[in-house]
Amino acid sequence: AKSAGRNALSFFDPEMQVRLQARARLEADLRLALPRDELRLHFQPQVDEGGAVCGVEALLRWQHPERGMVSPAAFIPLAEENRLIVPIGHWVIEAACRQLAAWAGDPRTALLTVSVNVSPRQFRDPGFVERVLAAVEASGAPPGRLKLEVTESLFLEERDEARDKMLRLRERGITFALDDFGTGYSSLSYLKRLPLDQLKIDQSFVRDLLEDEASMAIVASIIALSHSLKLEVVAEGVESEAQRAWLVAHGCRAFQGYLFGRPVPLEALALDA
Ligand code: C2E
Ligand code: CA
Ligand code: CA
Ligand code: CA
Repeated sequence: AKSAGRNALSFFDPEMQVRLQARARLEADLRLALPRDELRLHFQPQVDEGGAVCGVEALLRWQHPERGMVSPAAFIPLAEENRLIVPIGHWVIEAACRQLAAWAGDPRTALLTVSVNVSPRQFRDPGFVERVLAAVEASGAPPGRLKLEVTESLFLEERDEARDKMLRLRERGITFALDDFGTGYSSLSYLKRLPLDQLKIDQSFVRDLLEDEASMAIVASIIALSHSLKLEVVAEGVESEAQRAWLVAHGCRAFQGYLFGRPVPLEALALDA
């Protein structure tokens, strides 16, 4: 009985309890983030070889009343666990569509794409396709300018369902990028069956590019693979001119990273080359 008592005590480890309480508070706050209008989008430019901006990636920010700006790394995993990612992700898609619609009227911005991150939980929601199409229609956004970024983890299960949903969206002109490419566990065979438009080389490979032979080999292979599969390829996390030059020399034509611009609020976005 004594040892059982000790075990029960260690279960209520005070440190653990503090962590659980902090998490519960964050979760309660996150439930209020949408109704309190605390979510914002920042935009990071994607540029072509000549440095011209061809699109932006929309990145979610949470302006918390006491904590300040909370990073998506701190709250997206939580939102995925408790399914808040479904309404939050939909808010992101609606906001991105409104931006596309606003840009469509001006010839200087009409060709820009907006890339939106879609988490697996959000994508698997039964109403996903209909909600995206409704957001596009309601906003008047040109569907061909909306790019959905998905990750390899989506194709681990329910491969055919994922493919079917992608095809239904693609029929209406919406395009797909495979984010963080090279970091997943799946085989490459799905690449030939999925309706993808773009591969995004994960920033972990780009970061180590010039110091690490393996990263160079991996990045060169991804670029070659994307060319032979007729997919666009974008290098993420480009921070230096040397990385850019190496990527250009190896056939990469589109870039995203601090070298060209950090994610910023719309007002601060510089769209000229
Ligand atoms: P991600 O989709 O891979 O986005 C790229 C991340 O790299 C962003 O971090 C961006 O700020 C950062 N980054 C861009 N260029 C550079 C660079 O040159 N160097 C370095 N070190 N970092 C760079 P952020 O904004 O903190 O977002 C982190 C992750 O949160 C995203 O990774 C994405 O997985 C997730 N996320 C952000 N917004 C959303 C969203 O609306 N929905 C979902 N489901 N996930 C989101
Ligand atoms: Ca992304
Ligand atoms: Ca990425
Ligand atoms: Ca990532």
